[in-house]
Amino acid sequence: MFVDISEILMKKGQSVTFDISKDLSSDDYKPNINKFLSPVKVEGTVTNVDGKFELKAKGSVNVLLSCSRCLKDIEQELLFDIDEIYTNTGNEEEAETFNGSIIELSSVVRRSILFSLPMKVVCSEDCKGLCPVCGKDLNEGECNCDTSYINPKFESLRSLFKCDEEV
Ligand SMILES: [Zn+2]
Ligand SMILES: [Zn+2]
Repeated sequence: MFVDISEILMKKGQSVTFDISKDLSSDDYKPNINKFLSPVKVEGTVTNVDGKFELKAKGSVNVLLSCSRCLKDIEQELLFDIDEIYTNTGNEEEAETFNGSIIELSSVVRRSILFSLPMKVVCSEDCKGLCPVCGKDLNEGECNCDTSYINPKFESLRSLFKCDEEV
């Protein structure tokens, strides 16, 4: 995943556009992403701003996530923006660096994908989750387990879950 900026390397104020599509299905993102369902698409521009290179892009990819309560598969489109400054001098603290006339995008794209993941993944707001005793998917119906008794050891865990519910 790279952008060739040789055209604008010495031309202040000029831009190049790019449109990249890359299959990430062999990447291992577990446990956050189960599977990539589409190639990641990234399109944007790089502009030579006084010898620094400003990269602005929009990306998207379809992934398979798991509901954090019932573990059901959820297809989701992740959208992300990339806004980075690149230099080839290495003098700029806030900037990414590159060599020659090629900006390598893989690591920033991977990072952006991870940042675009939702904080809470649920198949629906009122997903009932799995029975903690027998593991049955409670969205498909009740089971006969007694879940009223909760081991005191898990009390603190339970309050954690309660906090989570309110988010
Ligand atoms: Zn669910
Ligand atoms: Zn049960």
